[in-house]
Amino acid sequence: MLLVLIVVALLGLAVGSFLNVVIYRVPRNESLIHPRSHCPACGTEVRNRHNIPVLGWLMLRGRCADCESPISPRYPLVETLTAVLFVAVAAKFGLTWELPAYLYLAAIAVALAAIDLDVMRLPDKIVLPSYVVALVLIAPAVIAHHSWAQAGRGLIAAAVLYAVYFVFAMLPSGMGGGDVKLAPLLGFYLGWLGWSSVLIGAFAAFLLGGVVGAALMAMHRAGRKSRIPFGPYMLAGAFLAVFAGAPIADWYSSLLVPSA
Ligand SMILES: [Zn+2]
Repeated sequence: MLLVLIVVALLGLAVGSFLNVVIYRVPRNESLIHPRSHCPACGTEVRNRHNIPVLGWLMLRGRCADCESPISPRYPLVETLTAVLFVAVAAKFGLTWELPAYLYLAAIAVALAAIDLDVMRLPDKIVLPSYVVALVLIAPAVIAHHSWAQAGRGLIAAAVLYAVYFVFAMLPSGMGGGDVKLAPLLGFYLGWLGWSSVLIGAFAAFLLGGVVGAALMAMHRAGRKSRIPFGPYMLAGAFLAVFAGAPIADWYSSLLVPSA
């Protein structure tokens, strides 16, 4: 298992490096493949030896090798966060048929959260194809274990969360169309795990968003009307449910039904 975790960590670093490209280029409608990565200040291509996740940034001490303009510490942070999430997902699911589907969720979660913080959008280009990718990636698990009921629960949860967010977007909640379109994707992933995960994921999103929103208002960083990007809270809530959903549900039901 240790070997699996090491391989997944390295995979996470590599994927995180690609996510940095996604985060920068997708909102600008630029191609992900062409041209090669270059310094935004002087335009020089990044050399191969500096293109290694995290280490490249450390070797350069956060500055371009040519013009010495600073490179944001967010690049190594995104790579590290992706690797940490990948390891946590692999530790949770092990070598199962579900693992690739949830690694994919981790990858788009990092990209979507960063883009939403940057430009307050959850691009359709990432969210909509992910409906198909999620279904394709979960298909082997459905076939291997005949988990048709589990997949059905995922689809119902997707419809339920879509409806909930659709209603919230109608209200003056500051929630946008991007949030509504992300909701069924998270609903499917959480519904696959169980209804308690759906409930915890949705509740945690509103709780986290509410607490941070109130804190920003208290610090006068945000007004009552200013829009806060809600995507990062939806994604953080979903991952809280993925990792801690079962223990939280057990704890809660133990409160309702005290064991003798
Ligand atoms: Zn430069």
